[in-house]
Amino acid sequence: MAAKILDGIKIANHIRSEVAAEVASMALAGVRPGLAVVLVGHNPASEIYVRGKVKACQEVGLYSEEHTPPETATTADLLALIDGFHPVNVGFLSTQRPGLVPCTPAGVIEILKRSNIPIAGQEAVVVGRSDIVGKPAAMLLLNANATVTVCHSKTHDLPVVCRRADILVAAIGRAGMITRDFVKPGATVIDVGMNKVTDPVEFARLFAGNAKREETFRAKGSTLVGDLHPEVAEIAGAITPVPGGVGPLTIAMLMFNTVKAAKIRRDRRVPELAHP
Ligand code: NDP
Repeated sequence: MAAKILDGIKIANHIRSEVAAEVASMALAGVRPGLAVVLVGHNPASEIYVRGKVKACQEVGLYSEEHTPPETATTADLLALIDGFHPVNVGFLSTQRPGLVPCTPAGVIEILKRSNIPIAGQEAVVVGRSDIVGKPAAMLLLNANATVTVCHSKTHDLPVVCRRADILVAAIGRAGMITRDFVKPGATVIDVGMNKVTDPVEFARLFAGNAKREETFRAKGSTLVGDLHPEVAEIAGAITPVPGGVGPLTIAMLMFNTVKAAKIRRDRRVPELAHP
């Protein structure tokens, strides 16, 4: 039976409307949370992403600002402008204290919870150990009482380790690398990867016979692919699509984090919130 498709757009829209309600109630108390986006230079993909963030802010009623320093900006210039990944937040996460959680891993957990996929007691395998996705995703799964294994490029027998997973999170950045050999039948597979495929041979490996994808590829010369090979849908119990899976959650959780950060500042303490 084909895997259930976990609809990231629908879940993200729920979270956005919850955030909008929160923003409206804060407005009654005279508080308007805001998000400042910093983009150095003119990377076209990043410009699209930034436009998406600004639009999302407008939709939920957040104030937003854009800062576009030139490509010549120094590290010191940028550090004067931002307060980015902070070891204190990493510490809060690993000691299960409330704080700000990176948006994409927080989105992964929201997809699981809001799709009623049990986490406690399950075997979870995360492929990827970056500070922004893999490690915090593993920590959140551990905090939710999964038994967690983290894999990376030096892991031996990766398919064997991945096949142990009830919940498999692929955060690698390699188009279609996770084939059916990596997946236990019935497992939930969350695809974080976002890869642009332009090579026709690679495209054929992944999508030969998929008329819709072939049409897009012919028209645009590229297609967006996750880390999952499409054949995984034949064996998994549930998967997130790319596009339309984890991606929309990242922006929704950014909106959520903006409100959370405003509350922390307002209260001058870390608030007790229902979400990560
Ligand atoms: P990184 O490149 O920082 O990390 C990739 C990880 O994958 C590393 O830990 C690396 O291992 C591991 N890896 C690479 N090749 C292999 C392999 N052959 N076998 C096993 N492990 C491997 O990427 P990010 O974590 O920043 O992003 C991962 C993916 O998620 C990318 O496609 C990115 O575009 C996407 N992404 C999507 C987001 C969304 O909103 N959907 C948001 C953020 C990222 P090692 O540490 O040993 O090098």
